[in-house]
Amino acid sequence: MIPYESTREFAQLMDERDELSRFRKSFTIPKHTDGSESIYLCGNSLGVQPKKAVEYVTDELNDWAQMGVKGHFDKEYAWTRYHEFLTDPMAAIVGAKPHEVVVMNTLTPNLHFMMVSFYQPTGKRRKIVMEADAFPSDQYAMDSQVKLHGGDPEKDIILWKPRPGSSILEMEDLEQIFQEQGDEIALVMIGAVNYYTGQFFDLKRITTLGHKYGALVGFDCAHGAGNVDLRLHESGADFAVWCTYKYMNSGPGSIAGCFVHERHADNDQLDRMAGWWGHNKEERFLMEPKFDPIYGAEGWQQSNAPILSMAPIRASMELFMTAGFKNLRTKSELLTGYLEYLINEIPGDRINIITPSSPRDRGCQLSLAVKDSDKSLFTAISDRGVIADWREPDVIRVAPAPLYNSFMDCWNFTQILAASL
Ligand SMILES: *Cc1c(COP(=O)(O)O)cnc(C)c1O
Repeated sequence: MIPYESTREFAQLMDERDELSRFRKSFTIPKHTDGSESIYLCGNSLGVQPKKAVEYVTDELNDWAQMGVKGHFDKEYAWTRYHEFLTDPMAAIVGAKPHEVVVMNTLTPNLHFMMVSFYQPTGKRRKIVMEADAFPSDQYAMDSQVKLHGGDPEKDIILWKPRPGSSILEMEDLEQIFQEQGDEIALVMIGAVNYYTGQFFDLKRITTLGHKYGALVGFDCAHGAGNVDLRLHESGADFAVWCTYKYMNSGPGSIAGCFVHERHADNDQLDRMAGWWGHNKEERFLMEPKFDPIYGAEGWQQSNAPILSMAPIRASMELFMTAGFKNLRTKSELLTGYLEYLINEIPGDRINIITPSSPRDRGCQLSLAVKDSDKSLFTAISDRGVIADWREPDVIRVAPAPLYNSFMDCWNFTQILAASL
């Protein structure tokens, strides 16, 4: 690790040396009220717009206007195949084989559809383990799935909790849960990177543990995809889901991703909510009544793809592929390490970083717990051009995204934060 320095010159020097800095101009950074670019550190919530997204969406609108229904087949990016153009880059980013990945639906529906296949409570094996403080939508999804199967969420959902005084989860505590209740656990469903603390879990270790006790294992990678090296195939997880509008910069509510491990690619024992887009492609338009699923994750599709929401994903994937995910991770560790250093340099003890300090256990996000705070500090930095986010009761989340954030962004942010304290 290079020794960081707290001067403005150091930040400038780091930006000059950064080979990925050229990608920033491929994005439109929202402006502050004074007309300058804001300090956008909110890619964990909604990534900024790739300029090409405008062109790719416009292309599809034009093709629709000029070709009508023929656009489904008679063009380079034919609508019947549009999702396929996203598969290879998406698989590369999440560390999966192409037939294990599909872009479809939005995130919470994908989580439900995966639960239909992978949460099959039988006999005394009915419980789901999830992390305490999981994203609310995931909690609601788990609760409602348990109820759908006639269970009681109070009894059937086990929370993996932090120890008193800590925000971080310990693997030993998950192991303890399995030692005590392993034969009652049907599924482990964890947010790969916790949305609140930014903790990145050891997916392979969790999967190995779950499988050892006969449970299935899935991950919600909403805060991991495009941020950390997920290596989904290698982890052995049964399934995973994620959205593309956070670190993947694909626009509000854009279409989500889904991973099904290849060991389930043609598993006909799994229940699934079928639809015609999951049916054998050669015979899809023969309109026959019996469902014949496509091998792999694509077989879980239901509807034909929403092209206008997928076009920005194509723009974003191109940038990821050109930059190289490995290079992005290298910069990300450096950039977040630098931000952490600058924050720790701020005098006083009002700011406490609750995200793990080891780069192995986090992505780019840092969660700052603010002592004795209401939302006023957050409002003060927002008024000065910082776009970050606030999570009740006392956390400011900042996430320098390596594709478009600079070392200067981190420096400017900490200047504003220190001045606002
Ligand atoms: C962002 C996020 C969601 C949001 O769900 P949508 O269905 O995309 O609205 C759900 N779960 C997690 C873990 C998230 O981080």
